[in-house]
Amino acid sequence: ATLGVLKEKVPGENRVAMVPEVLPSILKYGLQVCVESGAGINAGYFDEMYDDKGAKILPTAHEVLKNAHIVCLIHPPRKEDIAHFVENSILISLLYPLLHLDLVKELAAQKLTVFSLDLIPRISRAQSMDPLSSQSTVSGYKALIMAANTLPKFLPMLTTPAGTIPPCKVFVIGAGVAGLQAIATARRLGALVEAYDIRPVAKEQVESLGAKFVNLPITAQDVEDRSGYAKAQSEEFYSKQRQLIIDQCKKADIVITTALVPGVKAPKLIAKEAVEMMKPGSVIVDLAAEQGGNCELTVPGKTVVQNHVIIHGPLNIASTMAPQASLFYSKNIQSFLSLFFKENKLSIQWEDEIIQKTLVIREGKIVNEKVLNALN
Ligand code: NAD
Repeated sequence: ATLGVLKEKVPGENRVAMVPEVLPSILKYGLQVCVESGAGINAGYFDEMYDDKGAKILPTAHEVLKNAHIVCLIHPPRKEDIAHFVENSILISLLYPLLHLDLVKELAAQKLTVFSLDLIPRISRAQSMDPLSSQSTVSGYKALIMAANTLPKFLPMLTTPAGTIPPCKVFVIGAGVAGLQAIATARRLGALVEAYDIRPVAKEQVESLGAKFVNLPITAQDVEDRSGYAKAQSEEFYSKQRQLIIDQCKKADIVITTALVPGVKAPKLIAKEAVEMMKPGSVIVDLAAEQGGNCELTVPGKTVVQNHVIIHGPLNIASTMAPQASLFYSKNIQSFLSLFFKENKLSIQWEDEIIQKTLVIREGKIVNEKVLNALN
């Protein structure tokens, strides 16, 4: 069988789904690999590097699709490319099928088998296959770096002949994968870090990084679903959170927000009033911008200044670290593909939990229950 690697066509996307470095372990499955010319160029991976590792370079996406049995992408394919997929070929990407029902229908009409990696279950065996985690690691790190770059202050405590400077204060809201990485990065730069998450289990992880966990005097009921994601709360609860978070924001030089709830808009946790009480020059990086943002003043994709507070709402931050973000993604794909081969033959383990949970369409038939419900 042949694995096809396409160039990402979404504007501003520098990553690529498969990097040359990972090809040797892909070839070990007995796969051949063909790559669209220029696919990795924006991430610093040139055609020659793929060629060196045994891939065949083809001039266009259509040529790749004609030859590929399995196609890997980060973003789902463009409409004009879908028609060029060979019947019964397999697509692996981050589809977010519930948000793209029309696309799901088109992929099904093309008689494809489609796996969506955003649906990977949160079990330890699947950790190495999970691009949501791997890309959040990148964005959590970069968010703190963006904040440090914008903040007109030192992060560490400094004792110098010209005076002593206290450490900067960082407050992180949402201590999931991205939040924990932002905490770790802030700690490495010597900042004092406090963090809050609605899931009480996050406390231990926050503390293990040398940060202080902030207990707000409200407890959410029913905070976590079976897969470890936070559940949505009532507007009344969020309103209380907003009030309690004001005091934390007042003290902070940097606020990083990462609070997300799958399938719904990000909760608004930082009110305009909180921003107004922050110190001049302080910085907010809102990693929930893609889902509308955790701060009421965030403008997704933009940096705004309100009352001398700088609010970044970055989109697709992982793309700004394309070489390593792509490497992580490629390793996720390589690990996921281990469920596809037996003795170098394509033989998908249909009974496997990870395969079942990520499978959206099987040979043109939509099989994912949530998607089917949403379509009816
Ligand atoms: P996420 O990106 O969906 O959300 C980010 C964080 O925001 C979460 O920690 C969530 O609890 C928090 N949050 C949501 N609403 C909030 C609110 N109102 N106030 C404060 N915080 C709020 O989640 P994530 O970062 O992808 O992961 C969450 C958890 O799942 C982590 O503990 C992570 O370690 C675990 N996880 C496990 C696996 C695995 O075992 N394979 C994979 C990925 C993540």
